[in-house]
Amino acid sequence: MDERLPWHQPLWQQFQQRRNADRMPHALLLAGPAGLGKGLFARRLARALLCAAPISEGEACGHCRSCRLFQAGTHPDYAMVQSEEDKRLGESDPLAGDIGETGGKKKKSTVIKIEQIRDLCAFLSYTPQYGGYKIALLEPADRLNLNAANSLLKTLEEPPGKSLLLLVTAQPARLPATVRSRCQRIRFERPATDVAVAWLAAHIAQLKGDIQPEALLNSAGGAPLTALTYADGERWRRRRELVECYDQVLAGQADPVRAAEDWMQGDLAENLRWLIGWHTDLIRLKMNSDPPRLSNPDLRSVLWRWADRQAPRTLFERLDAAVRLYTLCATTQVNAQWLLEVFLSDGADGR
Ligand SMILES: [Zn+2]
Repeated sequence: MDERLPWHQPLWQQFQQRRNADRMPHALLLAGPAGLGKGLFARRLARALLCAAPISEGEACGHCRSCRLFQAGTHPDYAMVQSEEDKRLGESDPLAGDIGETGGKKKKSTVIKIEQIRDLCAFLSYTPQYGGYKIALLEPADRLNLNAANSLLKTLEEPPGKSLLLLVTAQPARLPATVRSRCQRIRFERPATDVAVAWLAAHIAQLKGDIQPEALLNSAGGAPLTALTYADGERWRRRRELVECYDQVLAGQADPVRAAEDWMQGDLAENLRWLIGWHTDLIRLKMNSDPPRLSNPDLRSVLWRWADRQAPRTLFERLDAAVRLYTLCATTQVNAQWLLEVFLSDGADGR
């Protein structure tokens, strides 16, 4: 995939201006919803800053020795810091690391440890081998445990030489304020629908022709890269499974404890975002039998059935509960499965 995403262009131009004026900051916090390509932007920036002969708009040339080393993942002036679990996931999943406690079995550490940060600070303190920048990418940066975050503060405060720290996160609130305040924040916003749809359409056309980009984008909450991951059919199928599971829970035909186990499987953040999207649509349908916009137009009939069963007040309460569930799972170390059981049991009560 071309990492030059159209909705990044204004931010990219800002950086080129700063670079030209020699006003590049030392630490950036790239924050915003998952699925917007923050990590791609960070790598593009790192590659461009390390390139020996940048081309127009400051892009990396792709041919110099520095670019080739970067491409091979062996550039001596670039370091990437991730938790062990994210390293494992990152190879297969561009959205890995959205929520700390994902479902499934955890085998590897999900935190960035103090030893990793000590190594990183040492790395940054050495003279750059190519005489330019030394760049480190932390992704997702919210995986820093408290000790690791504290040991990063001094380097953030007094970065050695020409160094740049790139902290990427969809959950900036999980980072200690001491870290956040020492970084310049770059906000990534969801792109305008027409921009996102045009980009998606071009990419889906290369895969399969029969999937509607608008429907994918809506279900992905407006995040184009998330929408693209649905286009392979696998996640779309998983979403359908969860719809059926929730349908059975609401009808009192499935055990909420078993159902909660099922919901924990795979990407919990994504599963919960879907849940919130369905509940938002339920309210839209309750308020207006033909709402101008639904996030899940393909689920209209099943959503109708759910909306029909419940009073408006209950629907608002359920949406609040779903949002609370997502927030708790994203920002605290709660027992997500237990919270899910409570949420699903309450739904089954039909309250
Ligand atoms: Zn180059």
